[in-house]
Amino acid sequence: MLEYFRPTRQANSLDLISVEQLRKDGIRGLIIDLDNTMTPWNNVEVGPKVEAWFKKVKSAEIRACVVSNNSKRQRVAVVADRLGIPFVFGATKPRRRAFRAGMNLLETGQEDTAVIGDQLFTDILGGNRLGLYTILVTPINDHEFIGTRIMRRIEKLLVWVMKHFASAKPYSPKIH
Ligand SMILES: [Mg+2]
Repeated sequence: MLEYFRPTRQANSLDLISVEQLRKDGIRGLIIDLDNTMTPWNNVEVGPKVEAWFKKVKSAEIRACVVSNNSKRQRVAVVADRLGIPFVFGATKPRRRAFRAGMNLLETGQEDTAVIGDQLFTDILGGNRLGLYTILVTPINDHEFIGTRIMRRIEKLLVWVMKHFASAKPYSPKIH
């Protein structure tokens, strides 16, 4: 059961994910969460570091798409268009169909797709259910609706529990 909540890797932020390592691990497509992974919650600003990271991804010939549970099409579209990548809005993560929709956009499969997100219960759980490579990032900020805050507390507890098992390989030794 805990296996489903264990990411393949962890990073402090999206731009700290090693593109070289993704290539080495055979990743050709990225399904990336929007809120608190690419931008602060409900904000359309993409930071310069994130923009530079996407350029690296592109030049490594890795495809990327946004798969967001956010139901506001315009909000998701503005960010995806700025980065020149396709998107799925109103996704139903952790349901598998949300990730299959992403893989359809990327034209990648189970063996070469990675899921990147800040939430264990949507991004990591959903990706792991399909046997995908999963990367947990630290959320950009904590300005979220109450439901998410409650989930965060449970997530923190789970992360603590997992530290007593074999945990994911971090990119940097300290992650929290
Ligand atoms: Mg998120």
